[in-house]
Amino acid sequence: MAITPTIPLDRPGKHHGHLRLPYSRDDSAWGSVMIPITVVQGGPGPTALLTGGNHGDEYEGPIALHDMACRLDPAVVSGRVILLPSMNHPAFLAGRRTSPLDGGNLNRLFPGRPAGSVTEKIADYVARALVPMADIVLDYHSGGRTLDFLPFAASHVLDDPAQDEACAAAAAAFGAPFTMRMREIDAAGMFDTEVEAQGKVFVTTELRGGGTASAESVAIAKRGARNILHHAGILPGAPEVPPSLRLEMPEDCFVFAPCGGLLEPAVDLGAAVERGALLARIWPMDRTGAAPVACHAPGTGLLAARHFPGQVQIGDCLAVVATVADR
Ligand code: CA
Repeated sequence: MAITPTIPLDRPGKHHGHLRLPYSRDDSAWGSVMIPITVVQGGPGPTALLTGGNHGDEYEGPIALHDMACRLDPAVVSGRVILLPSMNHPAFLAGRRTSPLDGGNLNRLFPGRPAGSVTEKIADYVARALVPMADIVLDYHSGGRTLDFLPFAASHVLDDPAQDEACAAAAAAFGAPFTMRMREIDAAGMFDTEVEAQGKVFVTTELRGGGTASAESVAIAKRGARNILHHAGILPGAPEVPPSLRLEMPEDCFVFAPCGGLLEPAVDLGAAVERGALLARIWPMDRTGAAPVACHAPGTGLLAARHFPGQVQIGDCLAVVATVADR
């Protein structure tokens, strides 16, 4: 494997270090990409792998995991916690979804390639070295610069009923204000898909977005990390789970922009909408006097995600209307 950890991954105590990825370039012939990692190991127990920064412009995960890396005491840990706050570290440093080194979108490149690009090498190491060690994996996401989500933890609909139930239970234990049964636009190459294929319990999140974090979204992220460790039995005691609304993503939940232009929202995130309700209008930007294009809700539910920037391009994901499962 291309990557070498600078710390032991299987020793008691708390170890802060890096995953060192050789990266030969003009300003450093024998240089490296250094990806921060912390491993906290206590007595016998399961292993949790907690990752943030899969996309580099999503901040709740990195904040929660840096905080946990400082605070977590190996004396109270039964098992092992592997913390990777900025999995695609070059993208994270650049504040971008994709890596500035190779354009790689880490969450579309799994299971990676050992002789591939920098981003493919990260995927390869995580998939072949770290995921096999883990019993449960939590991968933090938010909407990044271009999407904003209701804060939810999610599990995917899986073929194996036992794994499906275990993932849904872990997502509920995360304790976000919303808990989603999630559908992906394009699951190929995703970390999620790789972890689930290895038979692990997998939880992902979307905790707001817009390329920033808020006090509220960070609090949700921090509590969720602790809750996952309680749920796994790595920390003693039960998760602290406030009321959470269960949502689902039906096949027609996505709304894609039919044209580019200036985006005028008609409803805000979390709004309850009926099928056919006006979600947004898109104005042409190069002339006055032309009518806007109206975009409507494909089904009845809550506006669970929305395009964040004020301008939209044709084909952008404009909205997600999720179904409320509880009512
Ligand atoms: Ca993301």
